[in-house]
Amino acid sequence: MTAGNSRVARVRIDLHTHSRASDGTDTPAELVRAAARAGLDVLAITDHDTADGWVEAAAAATEVGITLVPGMEISTIHYGRSVHLLAYLPDPTSPALADELTRVLAGRESRVPEMLDRLRGLGIEISADDVRAASHGAAATGRPHVADALVTLGVVADRTEAFDRFLGAGRTAYVHRYAAPLEATIRAVTEAGGVSVIAHPWGRGGLGRPDETTLTQLHAVGLAGIEVDHQDHDAAARARLRELARDIGLVATGSSDYHGTGKVDHELGCNTTDPAEYERLMALAAEAAVRSDRVPPVVTYGPATGTA
Ligand code: AMP
Ligand code: ZN
Ligand code: FE
Ligand code: FE
Repeated sequence: MTAGNSRVARVRIDLHTHSRASDGTDTPAELVRAAARAGLDVLAITDHDTADGWVEAAAAATEVGITLVPGMEISTIHYGRSVHLLAYLPDPTSPALADELTRVLAGRESRVPEMLDRLRGLGIEISADDVRAASHGAAATGRPHVADALVTLGVVADRTEAFDRFLGAGRTAYVHRYAAPLEATIRAVTEAGGVSVIAHPWGRGGLGRPDETTLTQLHAVGLAGIEVDHQDHDAAARARLRELARDIGLVATGSSDYHGTGKVDHELGCNTTDPAEYERLMALAAEAAVRSDRVPPVVTYGPATGTA
């Protein structure tokens, strides 16, 4: 791509990554440094249902000179279907949002004893302390940490095997947990001065495919975008989602859903967001921030970033 007489390097943007604040394996600072090494210019940290990694990540972003967008991935439910909602730049202390985050985290935490009971029923002894140790201080311990404890114990080779054999929906040690209502959460994110994007809308983990009508309704509620380029989507799904985003007026994002060594084939920057789409998303966030009565967090700008 040329601009004027100089070749302009394309800005690389990854808007969906996890750290140890949830179920990634890198600390927030390690995540940011890994992103810089991977040649990313803009990184969003989006741990499950928590802002806990933001401060550490922002400090590291300043050090290594990349742009950091504070975000989170909220576990929601819509007509009985699990939907992951990415929220960028919301004030996490905004009451409605804070309430939902507390409920989701408590729900994730409180099902661990029952999961451990069920594993015990299968002759597998894991203690709550084993799971806590595997969680490395995450905001809440969840299935991935139970999976890591199973790996440490030598019961399974990796997280995938743990989900396939014990922890996935329908497996013996699966226990249901609370998820936040989707539309109310989109509104709560807007009120908190942030913007929402549906993560991997047609992902493997989802129970269905939100169609044009559903996405149009969600757009009317305040949804800003959908994650189009994600490893869970094949080429045909990406093409159709891109078309839906264009028709409805939703921002189309792309990201890795990096979890460190916790998820294979999700390397940093394996999918990226078009800079123009990123700018649209940030403009919508700026509007939401102005309209809200909150003081939302800010993007940390690394000196190397060319986006304005
Ligand atoms: P929880 O929110 O505690 O139910 O854990 C869900 C998280 O576990 C997801 O967000 C993924 O990061 C991870 N996960 C779900 N399914 C799998 C799987 N089959 N293999 C590895 N990790 C998974
Ligand atoms: Zn995860
Ligand atoms: Fe997800
Ligand atoms: Fe994710």
